[in-house]
Amino acid sequence: MLSREGAAAVVRSVANRGLLIGGDRVASPSEGWLPHLDPATGEHHADVPLAGPAEIDAAVEAARSSLPVWQGTPLERRIEILHRLADLVVEQGEECNAINALDNGSPVAVLDSAAYSAQFIRYYAGWIDKLDGRTVPVYAPETFDYVVPEPWGVVGAIPPWNGPMMGMAQKAVAALAAGNTVVAKPPEVAPFGAIRFAELALEAGLPPGVLNVTPGGPVAGEALVRHPGVDKVSFTGGTATARSIVAAAADTLKPLALELGGKTANIVFPDADIDSAAGGAAFMGVCVLSGQGCALPTRLYVHDEVYDQVVERVVAQLETTRVGDPLLPDTMMGPVVNGRALERIIGVIDRARSEGSGKLLTGGHRLQLEGDLAGGYFIAPTVFGDVDHESELARNEIFGPVLSILRFSTEDEAVAKANDSPYGLSAMVHTRDLPRAQRMVRRLQAGTVIVNTYAGGTPTAPFGGYKRSGFGREGGRAGIDEFLQLKNVVVGG
Ligand code: NAD
Repeated sequence: MLSREGAAAVVRSVANRGLLIGGDRVASPSEGWLPHLDPATGEHHADVPLAGPAEIDAAVEAARSSLPVWQGTPLERRIEILHRLADLVVEQGEECNAINALDNGSPVAVLDSAAYSAQFIRYYAGWIDKLDGRTVPVYAPETFDYVVPEPWGVVGAIPPWNGPMMGMAQKAVAALAAGNTVVAKPPEVAPFGAIRFAELALEAGLPPGVLNVTPGGPVAGEALVRHPGVDKVSFTGGTATARSIVAAAADTLKPLALELGGKTANIVFPDADIDSAAGGAAFMGVCVLSGQGCALPTRLYVHDEVYDQVVERVVAQLETTRVGDPLLPDTMMGPVVNGRALERIIGVIDRARSEGSGKLLTGGHRLQLEGDLAGGYFIAPTVFGDVDHESELARNEIFGPVLSILRFSTEDEAVAKANDSPYGLSAMVHTRDLPRAQRMVRRLQAGTVIVNTYAGGTPTAPFGGYKRSGFGREGGRAGIDEFLQLKNVVVGG
């Protein structure tokens, strides 16, 4: 296990090597350096190099000029390179997961982000030699008509801070597997995993310039979206930023894939396996990523008949959850990503308390740990019960370890409340009544509906939003199609 000092030294050296453009390192970024604080200690441990428009230009140029190189690389070699990348990520899994923990506070024991990233890489690598086209029936018998999938060209990828390495595996690798080259702009909030990922890709044999990494903030993001040399942008982030991105993309009419926020309704009927439903509700709704995940079940709707039972189990579990150092093997919940997030989340909790939007059942405050962790951004696992469906708690994405529990008494009421949200990323249902489960699946407006489990998020399945949770998909056949366009060819006699 890497010590905190060891992990910080790795993060520092990754950061100090700077941006990665066309195989070269750029350690004098035009937007300067941003201090990064370890979320678990609040201590300064590295500085983030910030790209600006100049570096985005250079990265796009590198990606464009490497298009013929990548597209001319034999399929079996492309597959081999991506598999080698997956091997490297797994071989260096301990270090990769420690980088992730220092990037955003995510506990190494909860999420093996290296293994998960490797799964995505291998899955997409498998598509490389299977992207066939099709023939088209013809009205004129002397013609031959067919359709071939082709890459867009240069893809701009903006992965999220809550899964820095996974975001690269989900977006950038899918784009590469489809034959595109990539400029990735990881967020300034948590860039280290993404930079390291690109370093490992180079080591795996990816030709220089095929994957460029330019961490930065809104300036770099907007430059990437506006750039006329970028053919498609895949963005993961918040709805407000997505509006700016749609506006910036309008100039070049750039196609977009948008993976945005969510407010997953998790619906528990009286005939459900209550232990499993409640246990997962607590762990997935609060502990995983400290609630900082787009598809986490943060709105728990419980039928009146089992409301007290479920609430009691959820609260009991969260009051014994080990919150602490994300690098330790028994930590189940880490800090939130930074001080700004901590203040924002505590603000939501305080407003809910003063407005009486729900009954605070546990938590509700900053968690003051001892020793090295005294300055860390920890929040006690927090649960509000009997939450008002119209309140900020129930309606807005909190992106913190705060679970809202609401009541319902009929199936129609559960559906109406679950769907009464601008978001539609995912929904969950717990019931042993199969016809009811099927009715719920049909009626819930979400890109993913999960029944009687908390599993999901595999590389093989399409993930993405309905409504304002965005459009486009990651994973599955749809995830690779996102980075292909279709060319129709008609050949005369
Ligand atoms: P954010 O929207 O504030 O920032 C996301 C990224 O956009 C950052 O890299 C930022 O630098 C960049 N950016 C900011 N302004 C920009 C602009 N004008 N043009 C281009 N880029 C710009 O999001 P956040 O707070 O960092 O992340 C949390 C949000 O992301 C939540 O809403 C969450 O639900 C969502 N999210 C969605 C998924 C998903 O797969 N659907 C996954 C993780 C997170």
